[in-house]
Amino acid sequence: MTIPAAPPSPDSAALVLFSGGQDSTTCLAWALTHFARVETVGFDYGQRHRIELDQRRALRAGLAGMSPEWGARLGEDHTLPLQALGAISDTALTREAEIILRDDGLPNTFVPGRNLIFLTFAAALGYRRAIPDLVGGMCETDYSGYPDCRDETIRAMTQALQLGMATPLEVHTPLMWLDKAATWRLARDLGGPALVTLIVEESHTCYLGERGKRFDWGYGCGECPACTLRAAGWEKFSASP
Ligand code: ZN
Repeated sequence: MTIPAAPPSPDSAALVLFSGGQDSTTCLAWALTHFARVETVGFDYGQRHRIELDQRRALRAGLAGMSPEWGARLGEDHTLPLQALGAISDTALTREAEIILRDDGLPNTFVPGRNLIFLTFAAALGYRRAIPDLVGGMCETDYSGYPDCRDETIRAMTQALQLGMATPLEVHTPLMWLDKAATWRLARDLGGPALVTLIVEESHTCYLGERGKRFDWGYGCGECPACTLRAAGWEKFSASP
């Protein structure tokens, strides 16, 4: 990872899709390093567990306090209500009665194409805010089975948004080819041990919304696929930091 020696161009701006998880927090730190003005957007679609959304505030405050530059660059936070997405999830929930984690590690409540919807709303918001650069934590390495996280999908989506909005927007996905250990390393390179500690303490990844138990890698149930992935990444990172 190379950290730019020169400060970002003063008129550069990015909008980060920020859920409050490990990946999007690392993306926010990346954006604060590369852009002069950074805003965040979160989506409220009636998640069963609103912990991720609640943790966003603590993470933003922590990042802003990490350096004067980051504090000056971090701008507004937006929360967009996407209740229709929740309605689609609920349909699956009603039918299945309980959340089942599929072989690809995603819950059956997950809405197909969710990232396409998020990117469309983020692009529309960015358009209104005069922010041409979007940043998202999509990653092909950890969720290889999930098609809306793939690089090919993101590139096609970028082209569709550029055409449909007649604007030169870009979608940056700094985690696309990183595994979870490399994502911890990226956080360490961007913000040092303080950023790693902030992500451990405040970011939320667990599918089941558990925050009662503290592991070396943070809070969670320790058993769901998201916790298992995060724990394995942390173990690998700790072994070769
Ligand atoms: Zn969990």
